[in-house]
Amino acid sequence: LARVAVGVDLGGTNVRMGLVTQSGEIIARRKGKTRVKDGPEKVVGRLIKTASGLIEKARSDGHRVAGLGIGCPGIITADGVVKVSPNLTGWVDLDLAGQLSGGLRTKVRVENDANAYALGESWLGAGRGAESLVVFTLGTGVGGGIILAGKLWRGVDGMAGEVGHITVNPNGRQCGCGNRGCLEAYSSATAVVERTVEALRGGRFTTLSSVIRQSSAEMSALKVMEAALSGDMLAKTVYSEAGKYLGIAVADLVNLLNIERIVIGGGMAGAWGLMEEAVNYEVYRRAFKVPAERCEIVTAQLGDDAGILGSAGLALGKLE
Ligand SMILES: [Zn+2]
Repeated sequence: LARVAVGVDLGGTNVRMGLVTQSGEIIARRKGKTRVKDGPEKVVGRLIKTASGLIEKARSDGHRVAGLGIGCPGIITADGVVKVSPNLTGWVDLDLAGQLSGGLRTKVRVENDANAYALGESWLGAGRGAESLVVFTLGTGVGGGIILAGKLWRGVDGMAGEVGHITVNPNGRQCGCGNRGCLEAYSSATAVVERTVEALRGGRFTTLSSVIRQSSAEMSALKVMEAALSGDMLAKTVYSEAGKYLGIAVADLVNLLNIERIVIGGGMAGAWGLMEEAVNYEVYRRAFKVPAERCEIVTAQLGDDAGILGSAGLALGKLE
């Protein structure tokens, strides 16, 4: 019998939920579609229904439930209000903490999803044992979280950790945020696909040419990774450029924060081997020797569970 909390990873497409013990073991899981189009009221209603099922199960097994933690994309205030969310259309000034705690009659902590991911890795994954770290999530976009002296750095408005929008090339590629030359415009899965398709449309002929013969929608970061691993030069260049710009951002963070560890996570972390050399080269070239040698760069360890574990850890009081 244990003290447990519900951890929720709410994404634009999927919801993952788990019952997590004090030691970070996930003893029960639930998974479903978010279905954002149904609107916030229905989505929150489904969250309450699924979570109360998990809470009931925990109680009938004799566990004590400390509360619920949820990682949610968007700008989240300190008291758990979703100000706005790029992935959850229509979620504006939504009191998510209030609605969930009202429906579940338990304590609720709401955290930005990338921050929850970083907290999960710092508690139980690649960040274990480090007092200071920056976590990158390389996926559709590039997100991140900063942990300093064992605590998440949220910033005065809860908006800290946006490593994806560090400028790495002043007049560079257009980013979704409106700026030019952000890291996300080079080192996200979206950017890898776009750069590959552009080169192929521009006349490059490689093993990937057949993929876009019908439609460029067939291209994926995974296909580019597989091509790179089998020696495709264009694919290798795209990944090494993604690594180069990631390395520029990492070098800035190393000089700015003198942190112990950088954790590379998200769907693109599987291609770390294709980016590592370029990242290390830029860090070696740009950062001061002492902080560069001190900082370890490692890949994330928890996969899709990082968000569930980080959110639950907040609810359990294991993380702050
Ligand atoms: Zn940007």
